[in-house]
Amino acid sequence: MEPTKYIWFDGEMVPWADANVHVLSHALHYGTGVFEGIRAYETPDGTEVFRLTDHMARLRHSAKAYNMKLEWSVEDLVEAAKETLRVNGLESGYIRPITFLELGALGLNPSGAKVRTAIITWRWGAYLGEEGVRNGIRVRVSSWRRFPNTAFPNAKATGTYINSILAKMEAVEAGYDEALMLNQDGVISEGSGENLFLVRNGVVHTPPIAVGCLDGLTRDAVMTLLAEEGYEIVEKVLDRSDLYYGDEVFFTGTAAEVTPVREIDDRPVGNGKPGPVTRLAQGLYADLVAGKLDKHRDWLEFI
Ligand code: PMP
Repeated sequence: MEPTKYIWFDGEMVPWADANVHVLSHALHYGTGVFEGIRAYETPDGTEVFRLTDHMARLRHSAKAYNMKLEWSVEDLVEAAKETLRVNGLESGYIRPITFLELGALGLNPSGAKVRTAIITWRWGAYLGEEGVRNGIRVRVSSWRRFPNTAFPNAKATGTYINSILAKMEAVEAGYDEALMLNQDGVISEGSGENLFLVRNGVVHTPPIAVGCLDGLTRDAVMTLLAEEGYEIVEKVLDRSDLYYGDEVFFTGTAAEVTPVREIDDRPVGNGKPGPVTRLAQGLYADLVAGKLDKHRDWLEFI
């Protein structure tokens, strides 16, 4: 990752090298942080941040779930993210807001720990690789189940990502691009950092949020775009065999955008090539974030 000049830290623009925290930070020991991943895109009308307000609202929801007192409002955070892009001269890139517990508590009771918030921006290409975006990625069903309702699967907390990291490492070490996680009931939940879609006989399926996947903003955007094209979208509990017999599978996420899956557990998905619905979703999403669609302009937040 190429450093940028400044990081927004509790209301100040701090030089990249000085945005540090103490080794006794509560979040370092116990994973008591919440975060977001957001992308900014260059468009003919200037730089836009895709669904910035929705992302910052989700950050506040995640903080609330874990009882962290986030002093900044959604509006403050939106403005701070835009300002961080501006001072770093980034026309496009990735934005990582993080709220975490720092010093003031050492035991498991975090009360008294200082709540800190930072916003970091950097340039970032295709998360699952350009080749993956073009021709699809190889995925394996993870031996790690997605963590259940012993925490909040629908909040983005740093600590719970250790579960996704186990799955991701296992997949990559075995030569795959990404992991697909089942929930405790053995049904499909999501990728380590992406929501999943399956197309069969022209109908678009995706697991319901209740299985414990994240309520992804890209998932929501893609469901909206495909419904507008006349596709039936069904939120349905899916099992492993549904995937093997599907015509098309793709992942969605801020980082992954729309990435086709060409193989699952060494079996080709459909004919092993990205299918027409996947290509349509990819094209519509790419046009949307690049400011080339007339609709949903309210999702584009110009800096
Ligand atoms: N699932 C998980 C576990 C994620 O980390 C992400 C990325 N935030 C997603 C799904 C996709 O969510 P979004 O489209 O809001 O980025």
